[in-house]
Amino acid sequence: MMLKYSFKYISDFMADLVFPKQCVLCQKSLMNYSDTAVCLSCLKRPPEPKVVRDDRHAFDEAVGAAEYVGFVKDAMLKFKFKSVRYYAKAFAFLIDRASADRPYLKDALMCSVPLSKSRDREYNQTALIARELAAMWGSDFKEDLLRKCHEVSPLSKMKLPERKLHIKNAIDVNPVYDIYGKDILVIDDIYTSGSTADECAKTLKMHGASRVYILCACYGL
Ligand SMILES: [Zn+2]
Repeated sequence: MMLKYSFKYISDFMADLVFPKQCVLCQKSLMNYSDTAVCLSCLKRPPEPKVVRDDRHAFDEAVGAAEYVGFVKDAMLKFKFKSVRYYAKAFAFLIDRASADRPYLKDALMCSVPLSKSRDREYNQTALIARELAAMWGSDFKEDLLRKCHEVSPLSKMKLPERKLHIKNAIDVNPVYDIYGKDILVIDDIYTSGSTADECAKTLKMHGASRVYILCACYGL
């Protein structure tokens, strides 16, 4: 057992030497093994979160941890498309910081926005962030609570009205779970128009969820 951990430590250490880990917020190289991928100076000044709470949305509250610009955007793109998986911890850490004054989120049943099967990606990056966050908080995380019911084209290429039409009825609740009367926390990577968050919230509430909260690593315009 100890030997296994030693090998893991050595292989992490070697990987850090060859591909030094970078701070998710300022891209400074982190030569020392950093669990959070956030450097000490950025730890002292975490980014300003965005909070969305109004009647136009189906969810009760959405929080985005860091603005989707500059280094944060670079890190998210590397995380999503270049398999830089250690950023999952960094984004989970940013979400944790952004929701520090919302203890009720830790009691909610956690799930993540599902990845479309047609996307050319080897893993669901949102689920990776959620898994890290659930481990930090000791939350109940059900990766398959929300499912895609038909394939959707990448939303980023669409204008807003087209996006809304496309995402409608694209997400369903897995019938093996009874969510009646439960508070649900949905983890997503980027909050932009809120259409994905709304679709998740509408579907969850249709299945009896009490309150639906959305936590995103990034927020854009
Ligand atoms: Zn930094």
